[in-house]
Amino acid sequence: MKNIHDLIVIGAGLSSLMFLSQYIKKSTNQSILLLEQKNSIKQDQTFCVWEGPGLHNITDQFHLKPKKIWSKVALNEAGTEIKRHINPYKYVCFDGGETLKKLTEACAPKVTTISNEKVDRIIHRNGTHEITTTNGTYYTKCIIDSRSNFKPHEIKSSFIKQAFIGHEIETDQAQFNPNEVTLMSFRHNKDEVEFNYLLPFSEKRALVETTVFSSLPNLKKIESSHAKLLKKYGSYKTIRQEKAIIPMAVIDPDEEQGILRIGTGAGMIRASSGYSMRRIANWVLTLQLQNINERNISQFKYKPNFLLNWLDKIFLNVIYSHPEKGPYLFMTLFERASMPSLVRFLSDEASRSDLIGILLSMPKMLMLKGLFKVKDDDQN
Ligand SMILES: Cc1cc2nc3c(=O)[nH]c(=O)nc-3n(C[C@H](O)[C@H](O)[C@H](O)COP(=O)(O)OP(=O)(O)OC[C@H]3O[C@@H](n4cnc5c(N)ncnc54)[C@H](O)[C@@H]3O)c2cc1C
Repeated sequence: MKNIHDLIVIGAGLSSLMFLSQYIKKSTNQSILLLEQKNSIKQDQTFCVWEGPGLHNITDQFHLKPKKIWSKVALNEAGTEIKRHINPYKYVCFDGGETLKKLTEACAPKVTTISNEKVDRIIHRNGTHEITTTNGTYYTKCIIDSRSNFKPHEIKSSFIKQAFIGHEIETDQAQFNPNEVTLMSFRHNKDEVEFNYLLPFSEKRALVETTVFSSLPNLKKIESSHAKLLKKYGSYKTIRQEKAIIPMAVIDPDEEQGILRIGTGAGMIRASSGYSMRRIANWVLTLQLQNINERNISQFKYKPNFLLNWLDKIFLNVIYSHPEKGPYLFMTLFERASMPSLVRFLSDEASRSDLIGILLSMPKMLMLKGLFKVKDDDQN
C-alpha cells in the first residue's frame, strides 16, 4: 500500500495549524500529512483575541506578531455609548494571512503539506482509513479532520449564524480613533441583531464590518447595509475584504473510530460570540501532547465547559426568539459586568465568581425567557 502516513490532517486552517505547531514539538518520528483544498493562503481573515493575566499568552506561545493592540473598547446603540478600559487585559488583532503563514512555517519541518487537495471521501476498512482526494488516495489509522461539515443532530442548541462583510479601508481624511475598538455599534433591525464592528489601525486605516446574527442571514441585504455604512467614510481605498458566515451553536460531534474532529465542526467556535482562536489555543495548550495513535486519539477530543455551554444556550435562545432585544442584552452586559470577569468569560477562562458576576449583570427577565426555552428543548 502506497501513501501510508501515521497521521493525516484534513484542512490547513486555524485549528489544524495551531494544533500541529505545538504537536510537532512533542511527537517523534511520525509521518504527518496535511491536505488542504485551497491552493494558497488568502488575506481574507482577521483574528482578534483577548490577552492578559490568567489567559494563555497566544502571541508568545504561537510566536505570532500582533497587527494592533487596544486597551479600550466601545459599544453603542441609538445614541447611548458605553466605553470601557480593559487594562490589564488587551484586545489583540492578528492578520489572518500572516498568522496562517507563520503557523505553516512552524509546522513545515515535520509536516508534509499538499495544497489543492480536496478530500472527497473517507472509508474505514480493517482498522485503516482510506482517504480519497481530487488527486489521489492516502491511508492512515489516525485522522484529524477540521472540515466544518457538522450534521444537524450534532447541534445541541438554537442555531444562529453570524454573517459579516468587512472592508479594510484607507481614507483620505483622518477619521478613526486608533486607541479604541468599536465592538458593536447596533443598527436598527427588528428581525436580526445587526451591528458594525470597527478595528481602527490608524487615524486613516480601519477594518469596517457589518455583522448580522440571524437564523437565516441574507448576504445581499447585509451588502446593501454595508455599502451605506462605507459611504459615511467619504473617499477611501479598499486594502482587502472579508466575507463569511460562521455557525453560532453548541456543537457536539459524533465520535468515529480513529478520527478526531477539531475546529468549527467540533464546537470550537464559541457559540455566543463566533470567536474561536482563544478556544483553540486553550485546547491545544492544555493537551497532554504525546504521539497520537488509534488507541489514544479520543483523549485529544475537545471537552467543552458545561457551564459556559449552558449559558451560551440560554443566550442563543434569547437571540433566536427575541433578536430585537440583542442590543439591550449586550449593552447591559458590557455596562454592568466587571471588565476582567467579562474578558475571562469571553475567553473561556471564567472562575466561579466571574460566572456569578456575569449572571448577575445580565437582564434577568430576558435570560429567564432564554432559560425556559432551554428547558423545553431538553425535554423534547
Ligand atoms: C473572516 C473571518 C474573521 C474571523 N474573525 C475572528 C476573530 O476575530 N477572532 C476569532 O477568534 N475568530 C474569528 N473567526 C472565526 C474563526 O477563528 C475561524 O472560522 C477559524 O478559522 C476556525 O478554524 P477551523 O480550523 O475550524 O476552520 P478553517 O480555518 O476554515 O480551516 C478549515 C480548513 O479546511 C479546509 N477544507 C475544508 N474542506 C476541505 C476538504 N474537503 N479537503 C481539504 N481541505 C478542506 C479549508 O479550506 C480550510 O483551510 C473569523 C472567521 C472568519 C472567516
